[in-house]
Amino acid sequence: MKDKRPIAIAITVGIVLIALHFLIRTGGKSPWPKDRVKEDSSQRLVMGTFGRVIAVAGDSATALKSIEAAFEEIATVQKLMSYHKEDSQINNVNRNAYKAPVKVSERTFEVLQRSVEFSGITGGAFDITVGPMVDLWHSAGQRGSAPTEAQLQQARGKVGFQKLILDANEMTVRFAVDGMKLDLGGIAKGYAIDKAIEAMRNSGSLGGMVDIGGDIRCFAAPPPGKKRWRIALQDPGEVTATFGSVYLLTLGLAESAVATSGDYRRFVLVEGQKYSHIISPATSSTVKELSSVSIIAATAIEADALATAISVMGQEKGIALIESLENVEAILIPSGPTPQLIQTKGAKRYIEK
Ligand code: ADP
Ligand code: MG
Repeated sequence: MKDKRPIAIAITVGIVLIALHFLIRTGGKSPWPKDRVKEDSSQRLVMGTFGRVIAVAGDSATALKSIEAAFEEIATVQKLMSYHKEDSQINNVNRNAYKAPVKVSERTFEVLQRSVEFSGITGGAFDITVGPMVDLWHSAGQRGSAPTEAQLQQARGKVGFQKLILDANEMTVRFAVDGMKLDLGGIAKGYAIDKAIEAMRNSGSLGGMVDIGGDIRCFAAPPPGKKRWRIALQDPGEVTATFGSVYLLTLGLAESAVATSGDYRRFVLVEGQKYSHIISPATSSTVKELSSVSIIAATAIEADALATAISVMGQEKGIALIESLENVEAILIPSGPTPQLIQTKGAKRYIEK
């Protein structure tokens, strides 16, 4: 057998030379700076709620620049996908997509495609075509009386992701039924968070966190001196009108996202009764089994869409679905007087206290 030593020596020398080269290029310091700085945007109004971005970088200017890049991306997504802005791209689709296919931007098309994917995974519990039902419940809240059975039934005919026709080559959207309406309220925040994180990485941040209304994603390096990003989940039973918060538990996250859907912050009030803003597309009624659903996933778009979907599916089916998905965990609080935590098997490893 031939002696392999000369090859081993050559490889070792090579590795040492490469390492030296990096040491010299980074001025003798490790490429992962110990002296990283953290910048915090504080709360800003975005997407109808509060947004906050934290950036960790080698210097303050880079951190601040990437915070602005994140907010710019969030503003772009909001402009395209807001249900409340008449001139958003999604409302242009809502006005015209029954008459003819409507061309949309890459971002919008991506969200539409992912939405249909989530409809498939969740057996239709997540469905962005719920617009007609959302409108019915919204006017019920304004009027102070619940929608009639006839109205709910009529809305059911206009809802269903199978009635949404997407053309990936042309990047167009078309409605199969007149009166259809898309509402991206259950997914756009998650998507905006993912895009904001991407913008932060591209503008030189070593780590960061993006929070839009309690839906959060963190990446890479936590703030100096911390091992993980610590995220507190609110106790839905203890949220006051002034949004003073009592925390239920703290999560330690690294490269992951968490999103919470619940009836404790946004709801409609009809004849003194609280109705969730999340609707079961199959029945057109509002959901009530779970008071809070938090989903931990790799990306915010998954966490956001699945949190909405599990609110519709309920505890039993919801937990079964999440257990079947890899790298996704759920923490649920059923409605009722005594708060109780239900979680998937793997959720424990994220809970700090
Ligand atoms: P929040 O906006 O409070 O964070 P969600 O992410 O759960 O909560 O989104 C709820 C919004 O999603 C509703 O206000 C509505 O716009 C939309 N929506 C309601 N029901 C559904 C559903 N079954 N599938 C998809 N979107 C829904
Ligand atoms: Mg959601």
